[in-house]
Amino acid sequence: MDQETFPGWVARAAGATLEQLGPATLDDLDTAVRVRYSSINYKDALALHGRPGVLRRHPLIAGIDLTGEVLKSRHPRWKAGDAVTLNGAGLGEDLHGGLAGLAAVNGDDLVLVPAQLGPLRAAAIGTAGFTAALSLLALERHGLAPETGPILVTGAGGGVGSVAVALLAAARYEVIAATGRPAELSSQLTALGAAQVLDRASVLSSGKPLGKQRWAGVLDAVGGPVLAGALAGLQHSGVATTCGLAGGAEYPGTVLPFILRGVSLLGIDSVRTPPLRREAAWQRLAQLLDPALLDSVTRVVPLSDAKDAAASLLAGTGTGRTVVDVA
Ligand code: NDP
Repeated sequence: MDQETFPGWVARAAGATLEQLGPATLDDLDTAVRVRYSSINYKDALALHGRPGVLRRHPLIAGIDLTGEVLKSRHPRWKAGDAVTLNGAGLGEDLHGGLAGLAAVNGDDLVLVPAQLGPLRAAAIGTAGFTAALSLLALERHGLAPETGPILVTGAGGGVGSVAVALLAAARYEVIAATGRPAELSSQLTALGAAQVLDRASVLSSGKPLGKQRWAGVLDAVGGPVLAGALAGLQHSGVATTCGLAGGAEYPGTVLPFILRGVSLLGIDSVRTPPLRREAAWQRLAQLLDPALLDSVTRVVPLSDAKDAAASLLAGTGTGRTVVDVA
């Protein structure tokens, strides 16, 4: 095993290439994992195509997610054969990541693949679904409940958004899904559980600091003017989470929703989530997500196609989740 070579996507500043690697490439961490699946998240798309902001060192094996089996471990919790998954925790950013046949990781950050899901569906959830679950947990910690009122999901056609729609609907929330592609995605979003599908344009900040109070909660994956518009439409004492910047890193809004309507904005960082919260998010995903719905928004590509699959995320034409079959 120690002499075995394996394929992996190696990212550099100019982009990533698929290379044959040896175990000596990997970081010296406590747990070796045979990777079965990875996935394509927005950050992976950036790293694979040489866009800045993700790689903290290079060359680096790309891939912020992995799902596979433990080969050997010095960590007390893990033994050979355990089915595990890992999201973030530095993978594909400052540690070698999951878009390769073999990985060395910190056992503290691993989560056992829930038996109800199995490895392929755990990979389909990936960082995107994990982040959707972290957002739900954060909203609920701050008092949101199904009876509080509807919840707006932005970027609903993407990875975070599509899992969020299914998860929130399964948790009995009334979900309003906002997308830039309503004609293309309305029926898919309705099938996932959205009660209403809005054109993103109707959420965008109109320049007015406050709008009609339309939703009790917001799960935002987009940022920019969409986030500003979503906050302007929050009900009094409403709560929003923000995790992404697919629509811009700036916040072109005002403080008025905060100081006149008492709304709260919560930040979500999946990468440095502590172990107990990782477990809680995965338990919620396993309890709530309908496997058939998850399958309906999942496509699987071979390792060699990872970079091509990533291009569609950057073009804004990807939908749902893309699993990379590494084995
Ligand atoms: P995807 O590319 O799968 O989805 C992004 C979605 O955003 C698109 O499908 C599209 O949805 C919408 N979108 C794209 N371009 C624009 C635009 N210009 N204006 C408004 N909306 C746009 O990415 P993910 O779902 O994987 O990630 C979403 C964001 O969340 C990314 O910025 C990512 O980096 C971030 N993220 C952050 C995490 C964290 O820990 N903080 C973890 C995971 C993701 P539609 O077509 O329906 O409008």
